[in-house]
Amino acid sequence: MTNWEWAVLGGGAVALAMNVYQRVRARARRSAPPPAVDVPSVPSVAASRVQTLLTSTARRRRQTTPTAPLADLRSTVEATHDAQEFVRDAAHLMNQLADVRDACGADEAVLWRWDETRDALTPAAWSSANAERPQHFDLEQWGPLARWSAEGRLVVLDGGEGPTPPNFAAAPVLDDTLLVGVLTVANAAGLAISRPRAKEWLPRYAAQVLRLLSLSEWRREYARQMRQSRALLAAVWQIQTNKTQESLAAAICETALQVSSATAAALVRWRADVQKGSVRHTTPGFRHRAPFPLDLDTLVSNACRDGMVMFIDDASRLDAGVSLFFDGDGGWHSGSVGVVPLKRSDRVIGAIVVASPEAGHITQDEVRNLGVLGAVSATSLEMVWEIDEVSRRASTDGLTGLVNRRAFDEHLKRLLNETDRFGQPLALIVADIDHFKKINDTWGHEAGDEVLRRVAKKLTEGVRSVDVIARYGGEEIAILLPQTSVVGATDLADRLRHAVASKPVKFKGEEIPVTVSFGVASYPDAVPVRDGLFRAADRALYDAKKAGRNCVRSCGVSASQ
Ligand code: GH3
Ligand code: MG
Ligand code: MG
Repeated sequence: MTNWEWAVLGGGAVALAMNVYQRVRARARRSAPPPAVDVPSVPSVAASRVQTLLTSTARRRRQTTPTAPLADLRSTVEATHDAQEFVRDAAHLMNQLADVRDACGADEAVLWRWDETRDALTPAAWSSANAERPQHFDLEQWGPLARWSAEGRLVVLDGGEGPTPPNFAAAPVLDDTLLVGVLTVANAAGLAISRPRAKEWLPRYAAQVLRLLSLSEWRREYARQMRQSRALLAAVWQIQTNKTQESLAAAICETALQVSSATAAALVRWRADVQKGSVRHTTPGFRHRAPFPLDLDTLVSNACRDGMVMFIDDASRLDAGVSLFFDGDGGWHSGSVGVVPLKRSDRVIGAIVVASPEAGHITQDEVRNLGVLGAVSATSLEMVWEIDEVSRRASTDGLTGLVNRRAFDEHLKRLLNETDRFGQPLALIVADIDHFKKINDTWGHEAGDEVLRRVAKKLTEGVRSVDVIARYGGEEIAILLPQTSVVGATDLADRLRHAVASKPVKFKGEEIPVTVSFGVASYPDAVPVRDGLFRAADRALYDAKKAGRNCVRSCGVSASQ
């Protein structure tokens, strides 16, 4: 007989119980172990089954190879802890049921749990040791009575009259007004207690069972919090040993998953000066991979702007238009979400975001854990982000925001090496603003600066993100195009030339006509020697200037204009 057949199924809906039971479910979910190991959250199987669960957990642990991610190992350890606590709780419950059985002179005492998803009572624990299911329960005869007891919140008796004791007694197990299940005692030959006694005592036994259940749940929750606190302490050390922003962000997200029941974590960087942020790291639980920018009116942006912790227990209740990271990312509208801003002397520098697909899964306590993690991480994060900013600035030209000459030279070397290794051509475009001296002389140096900035922007908009665009000299811009032939680069240069020439630069009400000349070369298709690439492009630029400016000349390609 399967467990399914052992459920006492009923047709009538217990509407009220279904409704109020959401709370019980949410609490059971919170104390449920990670899904990797199927350990029930409330003691509901016999010790033999518990044993099987334990051995399978141990086997899983042995099978875990040393290369497995740390998080996997930790969740297995967590599941093992849960299983051990579960065995202890199950033993206590079985002892208590054995006491009830003996006090009533029953063959067996059974605790039935109300399962609202199946609208059924299922046996959760019973006094018969080492048995897969209740041994002395006549499902056909007593099943409907147990259900009647549940639906009616009544003590139900069967058999016996006057001084003759009953054969069966059932009492609802109620947590305040919430239906948790039913406690039954039965003996086909008659219980040892009279009907009035059974009526009086069974609800008391049911209350005792409930007290034990809540105590175990409370103890398990406490143990979980202790474990999470230990994980937090371990994280402090780990976080301080991570020096790059990538590894630090990954360590913080991994710890966030360990100290909460979340299944996804993200780390956000926030710039309080410009009120903008970007997601720097995401764990696979989030559909979008970092890095990506935060949109302005989103939950995470708002939490960062206000510096307030945000905790959403059930995201399905939110308005459909509410976004998490960016406009239109509403797919997360179920489950629970927490956003914990990271602060350095009252200034928000980022946030930890956690999510779980289930409502009620992430708790307030866990969000507090994340607050501690945030406080521990903020200093290290600010440091690595500062270092990153300094090195970014060191390789960037302040006026145009383009890569500077030194960084360009490094990129050139790296891309030439890649070409040597993989054989794909590397193209170089060198651009020089025409008569720039005259622009300065006519409209002033400030206008010259603005022209430079505008040209840099136009050229940047016209190239791919893999291309490297640098300010090579005064008004000379160099663009490296990986995997591009000299013909492709020449076409692109002409499009860029047209983009600049077609629109004058506006400056203080004046319109300044600007044109640019381009020289193009490519290694190894046009220039066979790698050290000759720059010289060849520069010579082509010289040819363009000689040909009258505002044109493109390429090494090895006939003039296009
Ligand atoms: P050509 O068409 O032959 O390139 O003529 P040109 O005037 O552009 O060439 P030249 O090299 O003679 O002049 C470049 C000028 O660019 C000289 C310098 O004052 C100016 N310049 C260089 N860097 C900057 C800058 O950062 N801002 C401004 N406003 N001018 C700059
Ligand atoms: Mg010039
Ligand atoms: Mg020049």
